[in-house]
Amino acid sequence: MDNTAIYRLSYGLFVLTAKGDGTHAEHNGCIINTAIQVTTEPNQISIAVNKANYTHDLVMKNGKFNVSVLSEKADFDTFKRFGFQSGRDVDKFAGFEGCYEKSANGLLYVTKGTNAYISGEVVQTLDLGTHTLFIAKVTDLDVLDKDTPSATYTYYQEHIKPKQQAPAAGKKTKTVWRCRICGYIYDGEELPPDFVCPICKHGASDFEKVEVEA
Ligand code: FE
Repeated sequence: MDNTAIYRLSYGLFVLTAKGDGTHAEHNGCIINTAIQVTTEPNQISIAVNKANYTHDLVMKNGKFNVSVLSEKADFDTFKRFGFQSGRDVDKFAGFEGCYEKSANGLLYVTKGTNAYISGEVVQTLDLGTHTLFIAKVTDLDVLDKDTPSATYTYYQEHIKPKQQAPAAGKKTKTVWRCRICGYIYDGEELPPDFVCPICKHGASDFEKVEVEA
């Protein structure tokens, strides 16, 4: 059995946005790779969202969200802005003027580095333990950039995420664990199985063992 088979599944990448609940910023968003169309008649999509994300709670409370489809023009800063910090600490839309618009449902969608957005209204939820699966009716949608392909997860890994320097020949190396999502380094020979990335909140299964310069 080769567990890396799971990485052969292909995914898109999306900014999931929701309206604030009055305790923090007016709007919030996070990065997800789990938006898919599940039925065409009626038009419904599903998203799976980690419960650790503040956006998860907002979608749960509000029942509405937007999914902005990240394109190959998306830059790493957009991933850092929405993926590597929490809406419980910062206003993710601060300093992002001109890079988003408001849709008919009153929620924001991202226009920078995206090629479409879809508005959803939650019709069902399924508790999956670490995540909630939301099934939503599509209430609105539009194409923002018809010429740029959507960014796949593989495209992100190969072209958007900054490359880690390989250790120079002859240099002393050590083993560490690197988050495959954001690049965070856990310094240690063994990664605790319940470890959660402090930057992007992904679990131990998203870490890989690498050799870096000591
Ligand atoms: Fe991470």
